[in-house]
Amino acid sequence: MTQPDSNLSATLPLMQEVSQQVYPASTLYVVGTPIGNAADIGLRALNVLSLVDAVACEDTRNTAHLLARYGISKELIPAHEHNEREAAEKLIRRLRGGARIALVSDAGTPAISDPGARIVDAVHAAGLRVMPVPGASAVIGALSASGLVNDRFHFVGFLPAKAKQREAALVELRKLPATLVFYEAPHRIVETVDALHAVLGAERQIVFARELTKLFEEIHRCRLSDAAAWLAADAHHQKGEFVIVVEGAPAAGSAEDAEAERILAILLEECPVKQAASLAARITGQKKNALYDLALRMKEQG
Ligand code: SAM
Repeated sequence: MTQPDSNLSATLPLMQEVSQQVYPASTLYVVGTPIGNAADIGLRALNVLSLVDAVACEDTRNTAHLLARYGISKELIPAHEHNEREAAEKLIRRLRGGARIALVSDAGTPAISDPGARIVDAVHAAGLRVMPVPGASAVIGALSASGLVNDRFHFVGFLPAKAKQREAALVELRKLPATLVFYEAPHRIVETVDALHAVLGAERQIVFARELTKLFEEIHRCRLSDAAAWLAADAHHQKGEFVIVVEGAPAAGSAEDAEAERILAILLEECPVKQAASLAARITGQKKNALYDLALRMKEQG
């Protein structure tokens, strides 16, 4: 099917309007940049990048390359995870002198599993202004296309690389009634998916959001029990950049809670509160303390 032509001339007045907006001096602009497709840059981001005195960035070569795509050439100040503190001092001196400085990371939004948070914190602490110029972020792109958003999500970012710590982190998340979002590197995707299956069980939905906004973008949705087989089915499935979105635990007041209450009611007919709570915890896998409190309330209400 042919693709309709887009009429971009209608956006020209908006570009002019953007360039006339106010961009205060002595301000750090935190600018979101694309996560793969250079066209995913906001008009305000383009304007800020072209008017600032300098751009603080994770990798000067990457940023020079990105800016060149937009016909922009700027002084670049390295600001990566190994020099954030010193970079912050330098940027604050420049900002105090009246400069406008943009902060970018290699891709997406600074400070989201990327350097930048320490610099932003230091600029606030110095009493200077910080303005966000929102743009792409892999977490939001993946969530929006996952179909797994309920009213809450929990962004985990990268899980620990060591198996034990990774499992402990997942155990903590097991009961959370919120969609879970993880970043993962291709060389760890298989073990991470195994760990998700082992700790969160077979039933939940998982969405692999791979190579978002790029040529080989792929969004695959399946049950956790089928995730390892999908990864193994094609070598391409394990390549590139990934966001993993996993369905959250059932919300409180859910079928799980109703079942715990039903079990407690039976046990309370036969045994004291403490023992009933302890047995219910063993049967349901829920926390003994929470069940003890519930059992007390049930007893009080007769
Ligand atoms: N600050 C970035 C953001 O706002 O999304 C994230 C930077 S973090 C160092 C890089 C991770 O983000 C990758 O390992 C991957 O998990 C995820 N990511 C970045 N770009 C992606 C893309 N195009 N498709 C899928 N995941 C991506």
